[in-house]
Amino acid sequence: MLTVVAGVTPILAAVATRALVDELTRPAGTDSGTLVALGAIVVAAGGLGTVLGYLSSLVAGIQRRAIQFTAENDVHKALTRLRGLRRFEEPDFQNRLGLAMQSGADSPGAVLGSCFELIRSAVMIGGFVGVLVVTWWPASVLLVVAAVPTLAAQRSLARSNASTTETAMALHRRRFSYQTLLTGLASIKEVKLFDLEGLFHDRMMSYSARANAKEIAAERRTALTQSAYVLLTVAVMAVGVVYVIGRAASGGLSAGDVLIFVTAVTSVQTGLGSMARESARAGRAVRLFHHYMAVLACPPDIASGPREPTALRRGIVFEDVWFRYDESGEWVLRGLDLTIRAGESLALVGVNGAGKSTVMKLLCRFYDPDRGRITWDGVDLKELSTSELRRRISAAFQDHTVYDLTVAENIGVGDVARLDDRAGIAAAARMTGADEVARELSDGYDTLVSRIFFQGEGEQPGTALSGGQGQRLALARAMMRDDADLLLLDEPSSWLDALAEQHINRELIERRRGRTSILISHRLSTLREVDRIAVIAHGQVTEIGSHGALMALNGSYAEMFQAQAAAYTEASLKVAGHE
Ligand code: ADP
Ligand code: MG
Repeated sequence: MLTVVAGVTPILAAVATRALVDELTRPAGTDSGTLVALGAIVVAAGGLGTVLGYLSSLVAGIQRRAIQFTAENDVHKALTRLRGLRRFEEPDFQNRLGLAMQSGADSPGAVLGSCFELIRSAVMIGGFVGVLVVTWWPASVLLVVAAVPTLAAQRSLARSNASTTETAMALHRRRFSYQTLLTGLASIKEVKLFDLEGLFHDRMMSYSARANAKEIAAERRTALTQSAYVLLTVAVMAVGVVYVIGRAASGGLSAGDVLIFVTAVTSVQTGLGSMARESARAGRAVRLFHHYMAVLACPPDIASGPREPTALRRGIVFEDVWFRYDESGEWVLRGLDLTIRAGESLALVGVNGAGKSTVMKLLCRFYDPDRGRITWDGVDLKELSTSELRRRISAAFQDHTVYDLTVAENIGVGDVARLDDRAGIAAAARMTGADEVARELSDGYDTLVSRIFFQGEGEQPGTALSGGQGQRLALARAMMRDDADLLLLDEPSSWLDALAEQHINRELIERRRGRTSILISHRLSTLREVDRIAVIAHGQVTEIGSHGALMALNGSYAEMFQAQAAAYTEASLKVAGHE
């Protein structure tokens, strides 16, 4: 309504101005009361138009935020349907996600804003075309004819502008990644020490410049095309203006008629220009909006099965499992056969890149095997409900995360239903030495683990932890579900000293007695107490058995173990020698 009224006010002002001019130039003399009234209408119409403009912006702003809120909510809800990791590792999907976030937030508002502008322009044009019909009707016909190609051209502009935005997204994502490297705490030490600021800064700015160049080229094309079409309308209008002035000179039209004709011509031109611009903008927004719709409609990457996993009674079996991360990439697992017996503690050992972490990720069903199958008490993981399966697993992954949350929350998120269970959190913390970490902090379990946010409402920033302290929290998080059917620990103590690792492993194995655990560690001496050790090499299990059995076998495990033991003995001899 605001928009319609705002579109009418210029017409009202123009009609009143014409009456005013005609009144002033009336040969029979002027009536001062009428003049004052008309003047007041002209001024009031102008003021009203401006105020209505402000009010429309306010309403549009409120609507835009409501739409952004909904879009953000919807995109993130849609992402929870993706249960695997594969999509998140696809550059195309990340681009689309960026475009979906952007277009979901902007497009509806842009379309809405453009619609308002189109309505306002249409009302204004409609009114002034009425004026033109009264003054000299052929002008209105010419005008409509000239408008058709202008508006038709906007379709292709919309298409090319949308594809510019799509290609620019990949450049902007690279730009953001360098920006994060330059400002994020994860990389800042190396950036400063290796003096990488210049390199990363230049790269960031070069991506920024390339994105800008693409966008400016598109904007230039749009402006030139639109200007060319406007010139066409101007030519048409010039004919009309010359004709009307000629008729006024010969006494056929009044000064007021000439004035309103000229006003109408310029207003219609402005209105058409704005319609062209807005329809291109709306067209681009609609085209980009399909990325948002695509993310919302994105099918689940991993289909959750219908069956509920039972408590693990027999074991988990990898049957001839082949797996690779990319369709064209190297096979990571090449026909891996492995039985994990219910209740046992099993260690996976192997060189870097052997596929140990991959085995753990497959167990969580972050990916499905390309060939072969993994069974849980005889049932293929694909037939099980993924959320129920994951509820039966606890894990500390190799690249452990420390969240910008309090110490208690950092541990409690391991079993989110018990986020406020302080006793449970403290018990999990004791198992991994995280309780000592908490004790040394000023606010104990309520200390915020973050250097970039303020603690609570206060002005104090949170506290940073050392790598080992962070790892103790991550391990305690995994222990929140210490009754899980399956516990996965992927190099859980790589940041801890050997003694602490030995202590924690012993503690965990003790607590997990009778429950199934899989442990990955490069410190073979800390694995002596597990039930069995499996060596993974070339995508297969090459040796499996207890520490004693593998030592007796005298294969690659025995070799690795002796090499490490020799290194340790040498190191301790050196220390002893110095003393
Ligand atoms: P590790 O035994 O050291 O834990 P991983 O299972 O992490 O080895 O990795 C095995 C192989 O798979 C490596 O060659 C690695 O490069 C590759 N790889 C691991 N994760 C990914 C991933 N997300 N995408 C593509 N390749 C991966
Ligand atoms: Mg690994």
